[in-house]
Amino acid sequence: MTSATGVKVIESVDDLRKWRKTTAGAQGIKIGFVPTMGALHEGHLTLIRKAAAECQSVVVSIFVNPLQFGPNEDFSRYPRSFEKDLEMCAQAGAHVVFHPSVDQMYRSGLGSTTKVVPPPELTERLCGLFRPGHFVGVATVVLKLFSMVEPHAAYFGEKDFQQLTIIQRMVDDLDLPLTIVPVATVRETDGLAMSSRNTYLTSEQRKISSELYKVLNQIKDDCSETNKSLREAEAAGQAHLNSLPDLHVQYLEACDPKTLEPRFEWKTPIVILVAAKLGNVRLIDNLLVH
Ligand code: AMP
Repeated sequence: MTSATGVKVIESVDDLRKWRKTTAGAQGIKIGFVPTMGALHEGHLTLIRKAAAECQSVVVSIFVNPLQFGPNEDFSRYPRSFEKDLEMCAQAGAHVVFHPSVDQMYRSGLGSTTKVVPPPELTERLCGLFRPGHFVGVATVVLKLFSMVEPHAAYFGEKDFQQLTIIQRMVDDLDLPLTIVPVATVRETDGLAMSSRNTYLTSEQRKISSELYKVLNQIKDDCSETNKSLREAEAAGQAHLNSLPDLHVQYLEACDPKTLEPRFEWKTPIVILVAAKLGNVRLIDNLLVH
């Protein structure tokens, strides 16, 4: 079905494969792919625009993947705005929007589907400690989507740094024939990383939320300009964040950008990652320093 926006909407795996073999495959063109959970914002659009600049055909998937949500997480209330998303995809240069149902994606049932298990040293730390099973759900859906879309390049945001690292590792380890293209985090003017979940924030929480990025930069400045030790800088950042009303840090940690192993001394390249709950809203951010 071609929507009023001019974007082709595909809802079944069979139709996607047909499109891939005929329209896209026959012409031997470069296919770019942007997997999303919808509720699109400028961060997603930046990925789509980059894909459109580098590829002749761009597929965006919009699928809120139940397999990557824990039992007490926000799967059922995750923001959904499909019609608006379609318009935004069209304006950013997407050609196809793949919008499958949960039944289409998991035909043998969520509980009994085959799963992809990335290396525990990447998944069982940082966000993985607070969201058990999350990255198995992510890797599984992403591998399935890669196998359906067969893209030449797939675009992922650095905002979800651990996810990007795990997907890159899956592509390397399983010799998947595509390139992963990282895209820098898109931010609000006060520094808050854009996220579909930011719509949950009250206006008070919204003001506090920008402190996360400020603290990441403060740690960088402390270590690179004033010679403070990484441990001291992290402790000061953590204390500042925990002093803010309603905010609870889950982790604030500097890591090796490739292996995600913790760093105890400041040495570039390095990535500082943070996750915090602001009320019930879970926010993540990171700062990559080369
Ligand atoms: P999501 O819909 O949250 O699953 O995100 C889909 C893709 O968009 C992922 O590759 C995210 O990393 C990326 N993304 C989300 N927010 C941002 C942002 N603020 N800047 C850059 N990429 C983002």
